[in-house]
Amino acid sequence: MRKAFKEWKDLGIGLEFTEVADRSEAEVRIAFDQSDGSWSYVGRDVLGISANEPTMNFGWDLSDDYGRTTAPHEVGHTLGLPHEHQNPFSGIVWDEPKVYEYFGGAPNHWPPEQTLHNVLRKIDASEVEGTSWDPDSVMEYWFPAGLIKEPARFQAGLNPPGGLSAADKEWVRKFFPALKPELPLLQPFQSAALSLAPGSQSDFAVEPQASRKFEIGTFGTADTVLVLFEEVDGELRFCCRDDDSGEDRNSRISLNSSRAGATLFGCVSTGQVNQGRQRSCTGENGQRQSSPGRGALQRRKTPRQSLANIAEM
Ligand SMILES: [Zn+2]
Repeated sequence: MRKAFKEWKDLGIGLEFTEVADRSEAEVRIAFDQSDGSWSYVGRDVLGISANEPTMNFGWDLSDDYGRTTAPHEVGHTLGLPHEHQNPFSGIVWDEPKVYEYFGGAPNHWPPEQTLHNVLRKIDASEVEGTSWDPDSVMEYWFPAGLIKEPARFQAGLNPPGGLSAADKEWVRKFFPALKPELPLLQPFQSAALSLAPGSQSDFAVEPQASRKFEIGTFGTADTVLVLFEEVDGELRFCCRDDDSGEDRNSRISLNSSRAGATLFGCVSTGQVNQGRQRSCTGENGQRQSSPGRGALQRRKTPRQSLANIAEM
């Protein structure tokens, strides 16, 4: 099971799978009920299942060849992938009575509605991306001879190779693009050197601590625009900006303690001027609000010292 999740994750997709000890924390809950076959809810439907219910089950041994492809298949359902043989563009013409008979027999004993749901029903074309059928997909079933009438080459049976096909990999990477690397965290009293070409941008994160005033500023002679966003419910909202273009000063933003505990994202971009010149940016811990005078003094001193170090590099 862990291997199956790893196989998908190793494609570099932007999803994290984390095992949790407490079932109430799990969005994906896997059961191994040997009397219930192997299945999974599909995509976001997984999130709507009651916390006491599994969202995926395995009804047979996962360590043989068939089991080794069942595990990534069910994980594929959880990622939102439907069955490839239900692709409306597959052009498959079934011998329907034979399909009902085959899946109604041992070992599945599916009632007709289950065979219809899992095999014969074509997925609505509006729910499908792409137009071609991938018979090598891990989301494709194995079918013995006699169930498929068309395309003629599958009359003798369909035997997908098992494992993820090239198209599986391509599509899932498209659906779940890699996460952006975490932004560097700007630390109080530490300057970060920025090497900015004209018109370019540099991004960073700021995490204000409780009961502190913050100032974030740039130093040097290039014109810069400093912009801060706050993350609210997973979305970035504009917070404030300062632009020193054409002025004999540096862009600077003050934050009060109401931002404590928030995660802020800043970016610095340059106008033109002084190509290739190193810039610095610092997150500075001010004083507690109860002593603003002394805080103002320190705020002025410390970053200039760290800037001097950087400028000498
Ligand atoms: Zn399936």
